[in-house]
Amino acid sequence: MLKFIHITSLAAIALLGFIVLDWFYEISPIAYISIVLLWLLLVLLGSFNMRWQFFTSSIIKSSTSERKVAITFDDGPHPEFTPKVLQLLKLYNAKATFFCIGKHIESYPNIVKQIHVEKHKLANHSYSHATNFGFFRKNRIVEELKKTDALLEQITGMKNTWFRPPYGVTNPSIARALRDTNHTVIGWNARSYDTVLKNPTRVLNRLQKKIQPGSIILLHDTHSRCPEIVEHLLQFLKKENYDCVTIETLLNES
Ligand SMILES: [Zn+2]
Repeated sequence: MLKFIHITSLAAIALLGFIVLDWFYEISPIAYISIVLLWLLLVLLGSFNMRWQFFTSSIIKSSTSERKVAITFDDGPHPEFTPKVLQLLKLYNAKATFFCIGKHIESYPNIVKQIHVEKHKLANHSYSHATNFGFFRKNRIVEELKKTDALLEQITGMKNTWFRPPYGVTNPSIARALRDTNHTVIGWNARSYDTVLKNPTRVLNRLQKKIQPGSIILLHDTHSRCPEIVEHLLQFLKKENYDCVTIETLLNES
């Protein structure tokens, strides 16, 4: 896996190498600029791609060969759509994991309670989910994670150790914060793009191609298309003999 430290060391070595060579031969400024641009490009791609484990390690699937998957919902709870999703999960005897935003937990504690009582798993998706979360300093990130964990514990009585970074973005500040808080980072290997694709059939087609034993599926319980997508997804998983379990259960199968 590509690691930030390795890429940065390689870029520094390459730049130093060019500086030394410059004593003997004239090195074009384009060579220096190319190294810096390549480093920047890799850092940018690494920030948005949890699979690379670039800044911090993250779990994107389970290695189980059993037909089990974990459906995960980000950004809730939502007062209208989360209860509909819960109803469907009950109907299909499926369990899921909800990566909730702290300020939404504060607004809808009863839905969080319901998620917990119905034996789904709750986890941390930051307090604010701010669009500039990727630019927050370490201490602010730690504060957000602790605040959301405290809210979850108040309602469920359980300590949370799972975290999914907003927008799936990781960077050195988030990595440092996670070393403090000791959260396990959960990514996904089946991304639905359900907030971008407006046609539920396209979302489902995409997921059906990606799902395999041990998959972690990413959905959002915050938009009107969600119940329809969830219903068809649960029908597909049932037909394919997949069990829908929480992240905790899935990872214990590894
Ligand atoms: Zn999110």
